[in-house]
Amino acid sequence: MKKTALTLAAAILLAGCAAAEEKPENKTEQTETTAPAKTPAEEKTAGPVISASYFNQLKEVDGVQVIQNPENPLVLVNKEFALPSDYTPPDLVRPKVKYSFGDQDIEKSYMRKEAAAALEKMFQGAEGDGQYLFAVSGYRSYSRQQEILAAGAAASSEEEALKSIAPPGMSEHQSGLAMDISSESNGFELNQAFEATEEGKWLKEHAHEYGFILRYPKGKEDITRYIYEPWHFRYVGQEAAAVIYENDWTFEDYFEQAKPAE
Ligand SMILES: [Zn+2]
Repeated sequence: MKKTALTLAAAILLAGCAAAEEKPENKTEQTETTAPAKTPAEEKTAGPVISASYFNQLKEVDGVQVIQNPENPLVLVNKEFALPSDYTPPDLVRPKVKYSFGDQDIEKSYMRKEAAAALEKMFQGAEGDGQYLFAVSGYRSYSRQQEILAAGAAASSEEEALKSIAPPGMSEHQSGLAMDISSESNGFELNQAFEATEEGKWLKEHAHEYGFILRYPKGKEDITRYIYEPWHFRYVGQEAAAVIYENDWTFEDYFEQAKPAE
């Protein structure tokens, strides 16, 4: 998956195999001779060891698991874990990048400070490779998410709308750590066709170098509970992004495998 020369079709076919192909050698030799060598399966489940503060702290409120530490940069927001309805990120700034809607100073142009800086670097990196990215939608407030879901439900049905629109509190956009990205070649649209554009392919291959992950991968819909979104990128920092990319994991898989440090 790292070879940019791969055709898109081949890239798609190989996507499910990446973890097996790129499994690292067992480099940690046992010092105790009695310890049996780890099998590949055991090696894979060893998982990253990360600060306990990176795990969601949860409290059930009206049957919903509500995140109590929403400022955590590795906050896991999905249809199981919700941000508090009154949570607004403390350090929202406007990244200096190109936007699909021009230079308007509006809510969706914002991200949290660290993510914004990483986004600027990523867009610059893309430009260095001749790819021009456009930010389409970043931070989104709880109340704005309510409006979007209501509009989607009115256009089709609530059930249909919920396949691509998160319930309020359950959108990563409220975290200020996600950005929807498109390109002029894709008409600045957020759709499946973005994956076939040069910009979409560049992002899939390089986003992790800047600390972003493709949050809703193809073929992982049963885990993420979202349709494939080749345009939605989530900032998690370079360390976590590299592990997720190399293992072909979702963010849910990452926390399934991760263990808190003592
Ligand atoms: Zn999105």
